[in-house]
Amino acid sequence: MTKLLVVVDYQNDFIDGSLGFKKAIKIKNNILTLLKAHQGDIIFTFDTHDRGYLNTQEGRNIPIYHCIKNTLGWKMPNEFDEYLNKAKKIFYKDTFGSLDLANFLKENYYESIEFCGLVSHICVFNNIILALNASPNSKITLHKNASASFNEQLEKSAYGILQAYGIELL
Ligand SMILES: [Zn+2]
Repeated sequence: MTKLLVVVDYQNDFIDGSLGFKKAIKIKNNILTLLKAHQGDIIFTFDTHDRGYLNTQEGRNIPIYHCIKNTLGWKMPNEFDEYLNKAKKIFYKDTFGSLDLANFLKENYYESIEFCGLVSHICVFNNIILALNASPNSKITLHKNASASFNEQLEKSAYGILQAYGIELL
């Protein structure tokens, strides 16, 4: 069985930086446990903006600087270095979902694609929707204990929609 684990945007600014929240800190060990146990390929996505962020559509909607390329907030915590080193791919994106990830999944079939990371109802959700369309025959799973949101209501809605689309929520 070909397996892929995708860790979405587990970057300092979303954990304890400019857009950080408590639950984001709590899932760190759960993500590390998934990475340690995973038998297959690993992919990371990095939310990546520049100083012009506030003039983008996302910046007008979420007017807080975050994940500015090469800043501490853009980086992942040190514990992830060994996994970043052996990652199959790292995709940098200035949008919620990564079209590069979608194109990669279109070209490279995995029987199973697992997701974790931040933020559950935003970038995790968008990347799962892209994966679902790029690779319709893959089994897609979201690890709820390794994902988090600062808005419980929106997270619940996102999970409901994903479940309706046949995504396995673990
Ligand atoms: Zn962003």
